[in-house]
Amino acid sequence: MTSRETSERCQDGHSCCRAVRRLLLALFVLFACANANSQSTPNLDSESEELVVLLRKYGFKVLFQHPPIRGAYGLFKSSTKTIFVSPHAYELGIGKQVRLHEAVHAAQSCPTGNLSVIGAKISTSSVVKREISGILYQSYDHANKSVEQEAFLIQGDPSAVSIIKKALVQRCKRR
Ligand SMILES: [Zn+2]
Repeated sequence: MTSRETSERCQDGHSCCRAVRRLLLALFVLFACANANSQSTPNLDSESEELVVLLRKYGFKVLFQHPPIRGAYGLFKSSTKTIFVSPHAYELGIGKQVRLHEAVHAAQSCPTGNLSVIGAKISTSSVVKREISGILYQSYDHANKSVEQEAFLIQGDPSAVSIIKKALVQRCKRR
């Protein structure tokens, strides 16, 4: 191999390397952006942080990303023990409520995987009750109504986190 050939090969290799490097960098940036959009963990207060830690101890996954149902802000998938909270919920200022709502469903799913009411005694105004009934009437079928009603009632209660924690300890098995 002549020195000219070597130099051409090097140059060729070099530019190719640069192109590959540029492509990898672009892919990395793209991937990082996509990840930041779909998985960024919101700032949680210490009480909420504790609840997420506890949910994970009981084998639940808590993902801050779009649920696999179009237009949903939150979802609990019993089959995979996964809570989804959409970043849109945080943008709209309802992230905490959505997170608590889905955490209630997680506790309701113990011990069998089928959702059943926790039985927490929540007192609320008749206006809120009417509001919840309206949402349930429009959006949920009969079978889900009692568990949904309970999730809505607990998410709006000032002691929501401690109610959910207690239910997790009583109903769910630690991993
Ligand atoms: Zn629900």
